[in-house]
Amino acid sequence: LEFLAQTDPLVAELIQKELQRQRDHLELIASENFTSAAVLAAQGSVLTNKYAEGLPGKRYYGGCEYIDQIEQIAIDRAKQMFGAAHANVQPHSGAQANFAVFLSLLQPGDTIMGMDLSHGGHLTHGSPVNVSGKWFKVFHYGVSQETEQLDYDQILDLAKQHRPKLIICGYSAYPRIIEFDKFREIADAVGAYLLADIAHIAGLVVTGHHPNPIAYCDVVTTTTHKTLRGPRGGLIMTRDPELGKQLDKAVFPGTQGGPLEHVISAKAVAFGEALKPEFKTYSGQVIENAKAMANQLINRGFKIVSGGTDNHLMLVDLRCINMTGKVADQLVSGVNITANKNTVPFDTQSPFVTSGLRLGSPAMTTRGMGTAEFTEIADIIADRLLNPEDEAIAQDCRLRVASLCDRFPLYPHLSIPVPA
Ligand code: PLP
Repeated sequence: LEFLAQTDPLVAELIQKELQRQRDHLELIASENFTSAAVLAAQGSVLTNKYAEGLPGKRYYGGCEYIDQIEQIAIDRAKQMFGAAHANVQPHSGAQANFAVFLSLLQPGDTIMGMDLSHGGHLTHGSPVNVSGKWFKVFHYGVSQETEQLDYDQILDLAKQHRPKLIICGYSAYPRIIEFDKFREIADAVGAYLLADIAHIAGLVVTGHHPNPIAYCDVVTTTTHKTLRGPRGGLIMTRDPELGKQLDKAVFPGTQGGPLEHVISAKAVAFGEALKPEFKTYSGQVIENAKAMANQLINRGFKIVSGGTDNHLMLVDLRCINMTGKVADQLVSGVNITANKNTVPFDTQSPFVTSGLRLGSPAMTTRGMGTAEFTEIADIIADRLLNPEDEAIAQDCRLRVASLCDRFPLYPHLSIPVPA
């Protein structure tokens, strides 16, 4: 890092500021986490210099003897983590992973079914602004208005009505367990492929804290940087080796060029970490912490969508205090808490305003916090949102955030020298 400071002090200084921001804030964005220093080191390595189109042992470039071994370690660890017969570790992101699945299983004009974005689905599950919504005929399912949870009978009825070729389960803002076996029954009833996009819950799946979809789904995609705590990237898996070959071709040359081998090496390191017993303890704590935060928010009078959480995230429904997600996001930002506004099911506000705040526990659990700290975080959020005009309370919240951040240091050995 000293080289960076000498060569480009401008960029070095901004990276240093970002490190400080991460240290000084409570990071509650449900899709973010802090990778280990080992993952950072692998990603910042000389592997960034290497072209390696193709797969281990079958490359279009010379000089891949070490890259091949690294990518094979990532593949083997991915297969071991999820019990998959086949894994492709090359997708640059979760969106790229899903795009490759679409190229592999569908033709333009085919019908797909996924969760509505405003109920917790992802843009790549058929939103009109994404290629999935532009190239395919999309029918969305949502959660039940009564329980704010998946209603499998309703999804089956919709599937029978629209006969999709592909059904997608797995979400960006759904706090409850997904029953993949029930989705399999629905897919079988209409002859559809089933894709589980476990981008959010992958770390919980690996450690047995959430059911594993691999036995029930034709394809499983995930990101590697959320609860799985790896570098920013994607991953595709299947239990069918023949379909695996098709998916490999859909990644390269179908939708990508050269793989990011420095990121793949960091995936290998993170997958190695995820296979250790400490990661199972971590994942269990992620869920305990989310439950503690949700319970305290409920104690303080907030409504949590579906009444609580079974995983790493929750949605606070702010209509109970007549506040929008946009305002709540600004209020917590002002006391150094990072979260994101989010639509709640059956929201009447626009996606830019929303009625919800999405909160997650993975990142601050990585910093070592437990249920007592997450209860305190819920109290800080409640104090801020229930007293939006009170600057003295805001200042007290800032001090309490600073105290928590000081007690749980982030990357204590990392420093970026910035020239004076
Ligand atoms: N799928 C789901 C369910 C997600 O929540 C996300 C990201 O938030 C993605 C896919 C896309 O991942 P990426 O941002 O890496 O493209």
